[in-house]
Amino acid sequence: MPQSAAAAVAALIATSAAYYFGAQLGFQLRFPESPHSVLWPPNAILLAALMLMPWRLWPWCVLYVLPAHVAISLPAGVPWIALFGFYLTNIAQAALGAALFKIITGRRGFESAHVRAISFIASGVFISPIILSFADVAVAVWTGWSTNTYWQAWSLRFLSNAASAAIIVPPVIAAADLYRKWRNPLPERFLEAAVLAVCVVSLVSFAFLAGASFTTGLPLLFCAYLPLLLWAAMRFGETGASWTLLGLATATMISIAQWPAGNAGQTEILMQQAIFLLIAIPVLYLGSIYSELRHTLRQLNTAAERQDMATKTASIGVWEWHPQTDRLYVHPHLKLLIGFEDQEVPDTRSAWMSHYHPEDVEKVMATVQACHRGEIRSIEVEHRMIHRDGSTRWLLTRGAKIRDDNDGAVKLLGTCVDVTERKRIEEELHTLRNELTHLTRVRMMGELSGAVAHEVNQPLAAILSNSQAAQIMLKSNPPDIAELEQVHEEIAESAKRAGNVIHGLRDLLRKGELNFQPLDINLVVAEVLDLAHSDFVSHQVMVTRQFGRRMRIVHGDRIQLQQVVLNFIMNACEAMKDSPSGERSLTVITRTNADQSVQVSIEDTGSGIAPELADHLFEPFSTNKKSGLGLGLSISRTIVAAHGGRQWAENRPAGGAAFHFLLPPYPSSSA
Ligand code: ADP
Repeated sequence: MPQSAAAAVAALIATSAAYYFGAQLGFQLRFPESPHSVLWPPNAILLAALMLMPWRLWPWCVLYVLPAHVAISLPAGVPWIALFGFYLTNIAQAALGAALFKIITGRRGFESAHVRAISFIASGVFISPIILSFADVAVAVWTGWSTNTYWQAWSLRFLSNAASAAIIVPPVIAAADLYRKWRNPLPERFLEAAVLAVCVVSLVSFAFLAGASFTTGLPLLFCAYLPLLLWAAMRFGETGASWTLLGLATATMISIAQWPAGNAGQTEILMQQAIFLLIAIPVLYLGSIYSELRHTLRQLNTAAERQDMATKTASIGVWEWHPQTDRLYVHPHLKLLIGFEDQEVPDTRSAWMSHYHPEDVEKVMATVQACHRGEIRSIEVEHRMIHRDGSTRWLLTRGAKIRDDNDGAVKLLGTCVDVTERKRIEEELHTLRNELTHLTRVRMMGELSGAVAHEVNQPLAAILSNSQAAQIMLKSNPPDIAELEQVHEEIAESAKRAGNVIHGLRDLLRKGELNFQPLDINLVVAEVLDLAHSDFVSHQVMVTRQFGRRMRIVHGDRIQLQQVVLNFIMNACEAMKDSPSGERSLTVITRTNADQSVQVSIEDTGSGIAPELADHLFEPFSTNKKSGLGLGLSISRTIVAAHGGRQWAENRPAGGAAFHFLLPPYPSSSA
């Protein structure tokens, strides 16, 4: 397709020149005693040009060939009327063939090489020569230019035009294609093409030497050409097929030219054309199929290369398991991920799974089997694999069951992604989150320390005064044993109380792994209230407990849930700091909701949630306190979410705020 105006003009002039010389050649190759030619190249040249040109250049092309047509017709003595008649039929034939070809192959799904070959053969070799030969021969017979009968002339013209199209158009199109998509061939392919070309040229030369016997008698040389055609078509596609056919056509023509006069009748020549067409059509088709195959293979290769690239960069690979045979294909890259070369791990499930972490084999197999049985639609499981060097790698295996297109057998197909790095980051995050949770807890305990010290001091003071009283009692004679016993009981009671406070404090300060267990939320909350008791007293906060009865058990980590409650309580006390002392009231409510979830609510009569914080209260660093970090509520939210619950807050209509959290019951009703 010409890119610039100059290139377009050059293409048009070249078409016109080719038309002229083609017609000259055509005139040389007339049937004996007939104005019709054995081969009539101009129409085929015009057809090829129109097939290659964009629609907008068509009128120009038609114009440019007119002078060429006149220049060859006039000296040949063609009458003016016949001249224009032939011009019109030639143009119409090429235009019809090219238009049909362009329309068919321009449609979606019709661009493949073999569809192009069929479209060309149908429209360029058959339909348009058949139709336009009627008109052309009518002109020839009507103007007295042809001496044959109508039907004789029709068959001469049709076959010579069909043969011309089959001989000339494919090599021209192939040459244009080659020019457009030129790629330096591999040396071995170049060598093969050169050897083929030498064979073709040699055979054509033999035809020249053999003369008539190339096509008459026992056409051995003609037959020798067939392997060359197959070689060309099956190794070099359309290009090879069309150029080799051009060689055969040349050889045939050289031979026909040397036929003895008696042999060179119209019928014999027609036979030769028919034979040529019968050979050319399947060879061209075969060539197109080969081109398509090569194209598809190239696309497949590119796709495979891209997939390989993606596999390498994303640490992802495909696997395919055939349950009947237990054969498991695993992409070599996945084997490399665990330090093995492809051939070191045989393609069986047991070989691959022998590299699994022993604790994960059962989990993965259970999921895979469930998918195989159709109980789940897809597989998605994370598991560990042991690397050759002994380290652990985490893989995410995904897959689904599909039916093989070929034999209908069921297979499981999926991918594995290396998620070791993600796992490491997740673990690091988990540790960091735990540390942060612990730190905020420690900070809270720091704030509470005065009250806690008081909480310990009280029983200690009681112990001291009780032991002093006991000493005095011991000095009396006789000592009152009953009273002494009671004093000792009180001492033991106080020591227990102090011990409990210290125990609770130690638990909260402890840094340890999560310990999920069934819990009675009332006990969890009560422990916190006991710990903060002195804080309430010092802040003059009145605490009301409204604990639900027969609460559902929850599943959680006691310390972390206490941290949530403590955070809510300390925030509430802080918010009530500026309220008049008689109006500082904290209500702690626990209840089991209708859906069996367990709810804890802490209501205060403080300042209420500041409007500027309301939208992002639970986001980290949302605080309006001078020394606040704004982390407490965000950590509470994380803790509650990790327990499968949720937390929320609101301002109470009567003033103050209410903070709630909700936990699912244990065991859950669905379990
Ligand atoms: P910090 O206490 O360090 O500010 P938090 O995340 O615990 O961090 O609290 C964030 C903010 O939420 C507080 O600064 C406060 O403005 C608001 N807030 C929390 N609880 C209450 C409450 N009971 N009443 C009013 N505002 C509250």
